[in-house]
Amino acid sequence: MKLIILDRDGVINHDSDEFIKSPAEWIPIPGSLEAIARLNQAGYRVVVATNQSGIARGLFDMITLNAIHQKMHAAAQLVGADIDAIFFCPHSADDNCDCRKPKPGMLQEISRRFEVNLKGVPNVGDSLRDLQAGYATGSTPYLVLTGKGERTRAKGGLPPGTTIHANLAAVVDHLLKTPTKPSIAV
Ligand SMILES: [Mg+2]
Ligand SMILES: [Zn+2]
Repeated sequence: MKLIILDRDGVINHDSDEFIKSPAEWIPIPGSLEAIARLNQAGYRVVVATNQSGIARGLFDMITLNAIHQKMHAAAQLVGADIDAIFFCPHSADDNCDCRKPKPGMLQEISRRFEVNLKGVPNVGDSLRDLQAGYATGSTPYLVLTGKGERTRAKGGLPPGTTIHANLAAVVDHLLKTPTKPSIAV
């Protein structure tokens, strides 16, 4: 089975420093859902792993998070894309949970649930902690420059083997061997 793990905010949809707190604030990055459809067509199962500390902070509740994800699933379906599962961490940094990225707990849970070793599995994020969480599981880190990606690239310290791409569509081009732009290795 081919699996790919995506961060949500800044990878699939536009991010905000004020958090994505409602379905109205969830707006897809152009081309991201179509890229997921192309992954599906190539036989990939697409799984999301997302920190959602807005829940712990009281900025939104589980009902709202579910509504946001319903909007995402519906928008995906419209272009023939299927997101297999969404794993989220509702905790804040103070909770010291095992699932909040950069901890690898969510990815380890994905590995268990899908019964797949994550070695070499593409892990796409716009923040360093996304890539750090994946690195511990042996997955392959992809940084996108959407969302917080430009800031993340500027700060540096990316895990070895990280490649940098303009956006999710470019990552998918790369994975499906139809590159439109060169990738930059770090
Ligand atoms: Mg993000
Ligand atoms: Zn957590």
